[in-house]
Formats: sequence, structure tokens, C-alpha cells
Amino acid sequence: MEIRLQRRPSRAPPQSCDEPQAMKTTHEPQAMNLNGSVPASRSGGGVTRSLKLAVLRLLRGGGMFELVANSRWRQQRLLILCYHGTSLEDEHLWRPGLYISRQRLSERFTSLKQRHYTVLPLGEALEQLQAQTLPARSVALTFDDGTYDFYRQAYPLLQKFGFPATVYLTTYYSVGERPVFNLICSYMLWQRRGKVIADGEEIGLPGPLDLRSETGRHRVVRGLIDLSEREGMDGVQKDDLASRFAGFLEIDFSALKSKRILQLMNAREVREVARNRIDIQLHTHRHRTPEDEALFSREIRENREHILELAGVNPVHFCYPGGVYKPAFLPWLRAEQVLSATTCDSGLCTSRSESLLLPRFVDSQSRTQLEFEGWTAGVGICWHAEGTPRISMFRETDMICTP
Ligand SMILES: [Zn+2]
Repeated sequence: MEIRLQRRPSRAPPQSCDEPQAMKTTHEPQAMNLNGSVPASRSGGGVTRSLKLAVLRLLRGGGMFELVANSRWRQQRLLILCYHGTSLEDEHLWRPGLYISRQRLSERFTSLKQRHYTVLPLGEALEQLQAQTLPARSVALTFDDGTYDFYRQAYPLLQKFGFPATVYLTTYYSVGERPVFNLICSYMLWQRRGKVIADGEEIGLPGPLDLRSETGRHRVVRGLIDLSEREGMDGVQKDDLASRFAGFLEIDFSALKSKRILQLMNAREVREVARNRIDIQLHTHRHRTPEDEALFSREIRENREHILELAGVNPVHFCYPGGVYKPAFLPWLRAEQVLSATTCDSGLCTSRSESLLLPRFVDSQSRTQLEFEGWTAGVGICWHAEGTPRISMFRETDMICTP
């Protein structure tokens, strides 16, 4: 759930208030292909993607995957896998670049097990990477945000397979037990896709609401976010707005809430997973990275305090919310004694990687098993320039490009 809608540049960001900004889904490589581009359906790159998949198929058929996976080259590298949500119901159909079905996640874990990958705890893997003592075929598993669906779906699978994992927990919503406002609104609109509503005046959005396209639905979500910010709504008030919006769309909001869709783990759930090999680490308190050092540090400190209280450990590993990072963040993270930080840029980590800009492979329903196997083997990197971190920049249009 990476997840922050960037506000329009003309407005001052609400970085001093206690409410998190809307969470955005943009920097997850939604349905990203091996070259990091958007999928064929949106980019028109169908032939290129098909060609690359055909090449991958040939390489796998020719035994190249196993050759690379067993190589000294691969042994010197760590693959950090990144997941977000594991569907409780149909979320992977709503956001295939953000969610994965429980069945597909189980297939991924089976693949790791059957192909003898070594799944290491993140901290241990990073230490061994630096010491150049990594075992063959090393992988670390990370889950961003700490959603309830992690507790309900991914966590039991991790236990079944005996895999350690890191959860980068954003703590604001884990206290409130409310669905993430902009995401639940987006999800409800998706449930009503295909409709055109003549007038949204009743919920403060005058004019017709066209829910037939992603762009149209996003416009409505943006309108709701603007409305909540204009009126300075707190978490409870935004939840009330979402509830009224659900009524407007004739959706049973209380049923959605009781299923805990798009909610984070509560304190009891975080404590439980933390006792059972789930490593809870930093993701900021409000899922945002202010461009002011004092506010940025406050996000880390509040996040750390909550994690210390919930999990009883001092977190030192960080994941950039939304995959968004800037050079200025690195010294700020070092000042907060953060040892590593992961991005959503695709790549394998080496001992020469910048420890505060570590690449990962973002897996989701959008990825084929072939791509997954290619990346775990180390072949996927062939389509990327290794060790060339990209500096992500906010763009207003980002929020349109949700998976
Ligand atoms: Zn996130």
C-alpha cells in the first residue's frame, strides 16, 4: 500500500498536522515489466514485453536460470522481495500492482522452497552481504505498511513455510483501526465502476461523477481528499465522510469495515506477529516523507516510539513510503541511526550498494511466475542497469497512474 497522493505543487503540504496525507499507489511498479515500464495495455509496449517474456522463457528452458542462480555472481547478491497487500477478497483485481492473491503468494513461497532459495531475516542478510558471507541464492522478504491482510493472509503462509520476514509498519492507522481513507474511497468507487452518477452535490462534489474509467474514479477520490483537507478533517471525520460516501454509492460500509479491508494491523496483531519471527521496522508514522528535516525526523521518531512500544524492538531499517526518496533524506536518516533503507526501484543488492537506497523486486499479482523466477535467479537484472539508483520525483499525474 504505497500510497501517497502528492498534493498539487501550488498548495502547502499539511506537514505539520497530525493527519497522514493520502496514501498513494504510484511508486509501486504497478504492473511494471522487466524494464520497469508500465504494462503493454497502457504503454503500447506489448511486442517488447512479449519479446522479453519469450526470451526469458527460452533462457529458463535452456537452464540459464539455474546456471545464474548457482553462480558466484548471484551468491554475492541479495534479492529483497517487496510485497504490499495480500487480498482478503478481490483487492488484487482492483490494484493488481499493489496486491497479490493468497494463492499466488503461496505459489511464490512454494517456488522459493522448491528451488532451494535461502530466505534470511533482513538484518542478518544485510550484515552477511557486507561481510560477503551470503549463502547461495539469498532472498529477504519485506512487506510494506503492515496491513491487516498481512496478518490474516501472508503471516500464516510465512509460518507454514518457516520464512522470516520484515514488515515496514506505518503506525498512524494501526492505532485508529480505520480503513485508509483515500484507498477505501478508491476501492468503493472501483466496486461501482461502470456507473455515471448525475450529481455528487449530496456528498460535496457538485456535478456528474463518471466512474467508468480509472481517471474518472481518481478525479472523484481527489475531490474527496480535497474536501477533507479543505475542511481540516481528522481521522474520525474522514472515516465519517467515507461512510457517507459509501451510503451515497449504496455500499454497506459497516460490512467493509468489519472485514478490515484496507486497514492496518492493530496493536494486538502487531504484538503477535512480532513474537513470531516478524521483524517490525520503520515506514514513518503517517506514511510520508516531509521535505523539512525536523518534520522528517519527527516521522521517524514517532514511528520508532510506536514500534518500540508495540514490538519491543528498536527499529533501524527503513522503507521509503511510496518509494519516494531524495538525496537530502540520506543524512537525515543517518542522523536518526537508520542503518538501511529500501526503495521500490528494481534490482539486486551488492556489498557496494548504498545502504540507504537499496533496490528490491516488487512482486504482485501483475507479475508472472516466469518474471518472479527470473528475478529470484538473478536473470531479471539483465533488463536493469544495476547500481544506478533513480531519484524519484513527485508528479501530480502520479496519482492518475494507479495500478
Ligand atoms: Zn507504504
